[in-house]
Amino acid sequence: MSRRVLILGGTAEARALAADLDSAGLPIISSLAGRVARPRLPAGEVRSGGFGGPDALAHWLVDQAIAAVVDATHPFAERISASAAAATASAGVPLLRLERPGWVAGDGDRWQWVDDLPQAAAAVRALGAGRVLLTTGRQGLAAFAADTEAWFLIRCVDPPDTRLPPRHEVLLDRGPYTLESELALVDAHGVDLVVTKNSGGRLTEAKLQAARVRALPVVVVRRPPRLQVATVRTVAEAGVWARRQAAG
Ligand code: NAP
Repeated sequence: MSRRVLILGGTAEARALAADLDSAGLPIISSLAGRVARPRLPAGEVRSGGFGGPDALAHWLVDQAIAAVVDATHPFAERISASAAAATASAGVPLLRLERPGWVAGDGDRWQWVDDLPQAAAAVRALGAGRVLLTTGRQGLAAFAADTEAWFLIRCVDPPDTRLPPRHEVLLDRGPYTLESELALVDAHGVDLVVTKNSGGRLTEAKLQAARVRALPVVVVRRPPRLQVATVRTVAEAGVWARRQAAG
């Protein structure tokens, strides 16, 4: 009897991995932060909500006799990844990081890289943008709150609960997006600057293609630095690893 693999989720890759392992009959449990009102649920068993920090997660891993952990959380979810690294080390449970590749600028792209959201807000001001498509998610929007000049089209999954810039419209949407729909959005709102995290992945990359087509500048927030853990880029590689660990 193989023991369960924990998938730390909240991403398309985590759902794809859960679907793959569940359909193969591997015992898994996916974990979600529980922040999104109506999350897309992965296949198989699911739990929701924080663990209470690394020590509590380590106890949980032991209590639940977890065979291995795949950290498939979002590239910008720093705290849960750090918690997973610490907890698996102290509980003696193998850990694999599944992280999709970041986006890479191509011919015709006008990207400006910044380290964080306050730097992104400074770049918006420095570029003198008038109408900004802001797609960095609902966390950290307060960094833009002091900007009284630009108008922001703030696109996020759930309503923001923080201070926002005075001139804005909130668009609740979660994608996936197409080049056609992104061009229509950019054109309808007269967007002259796009701001994004370097999330990577296919589901939300159409905004970058639309920016290229319309020759719009893009402010791209770099991924935060990460602890060194064994990492794969694809769901298939994570699936092979998880099968080996569960059989283990
Ligand atoms: P975070 O800052 O790294 O995590 C904050 C706290 O939320 C963690 O310390 C942990 O609480 C809890 N948590 C986060 N992910 C969890 C999970 N999968 N299962 C159980 N608890 C979890 O994360 P975040 O940036 O707020 O992101 C939250 C979730 O949304 C992540 O699962 C991530 O994959 C997903 N997501 C994030 C982004 C983004 O841009 N950050 C975008 C898309 C999806 P405890 O310390 O109490 O355990």
